[in-house]
Amino acid sequence: MRDGYLRKIDYLRVSITDRCNLRCFYCLPAGGIPTSPQGEILSFEELLELLGVATGNGIRRVRITGGEPLVRKGVIAFLSRVKAIPGVVDLSLTTNGLLLEGSAGGLRRAGVDRLNVSLDSLRQERYREITRGGELNKVLRGIDRAQREGFSSLKLNVLLMRRTRDEIPAFLRLTLERPLHVRFIELMPIGEGVAQCGEYLPLSEFWRALEPFHPASVRVEGGGPAECYRIPGAAGTVGFIAAVSHNFCGACRRLRLGADGFLYACLAGGGGIDLRDPLRRGVSRDKLGELFRRAILSKPREGDFRWEKAGGRSMSRIGG
Ligand code: SAM
Repeated sequence: MRDGYLRKIDYLRVSITDRCNLRCFYCLPAGGIPTSPQGEILSFEELLELLGVATGNGIRRVRITGGEPLVRKGVIAFLSRVKAIPGVVDLSLTTNGLLLEGSAGGLRRAGVDRLNVSLDSLRQERYREITRGGELNKVLRGIDRAQREGFSSLKLNVLLMRRTRDEIPAFLRLTLERPLHVRFIELMPIGEGVAQCGEYLPLSEFWRALEPFHPASVRVEGGGPAECYRIPGAAGTVGFIAAVSHNFCGACRRLRLGADGFLYACLAGGGGIDLRDPLRRGVSRDKLGELFRRAILSKPREGDFRWEKAGGRSMSRIGG
């Protein structure tokens, strides 16, 4: 279905939990945020019901996220049911990778097509500091395992920060050696990111670090908002998602369903509708479809990502 600006909306991100096993300093406060009481989070049955409504209204690609999606019990069985929904042609998952080693095989068998792993540093100490306690080696073992299980187009989401700018060459070298697709992402004024605005680096500052690789790099199609390149001879690719410094809302095709059933029309705020209450009141599927279409039509032309306009949203609730 098309929104009010004629953009085709066919991609839904679904957060299945607001719990996370990390506390990245730009995402969550050290003590975490109060997680929603059990009954406020949609059950898997409710999520499947809403996914049926979504595919009935043009959604074809689904990404499962969180919080950390792999901490929710029963996630693998849930994913195979999502994959079986007629209309879902692409199922992907975003994870911090901590639990990936033990679940990569199950994810593959459940029919997950693609994985994104969030990984901001390749240095153990620094990784632990950024995530407030994460074990880099577990994530690296998870990535290895996922590749062995057949996740060939594995993407690494790397948040650009002042404190990690010296690691860009190391991430670029990873793409030389392995079929990994590194995506550098700008820090956004959401959640704890607002308080950490001093860490913000526009992507333009990163071109300098790319220079030894850049002149011969070839632009390739990345299948999303990223501007992507392949260094000659490299097994993987490198991409840039400049959500803040370069507005790409004109090409936005997505909606986000929060774990509490709120359907967000835009990551930066504006639009959206609660689906949990109508769902629990037992309204018809047709009525839910109407609400879903109303959310699509409420998508603003552009999200406002100015730091001074940042609101009280939390990435761990919306799912990134
Ligand atoms: N736990 C999963 C993970 O780590 O990928 C999924 C949820 S996490 C909220 C999704 C993504 O949001 C991560 O890649 C994280 O780096 C990113 N993120 C969180 N806060 C952000 C911010 N303020 N700006 C940009 N990205 C952010």
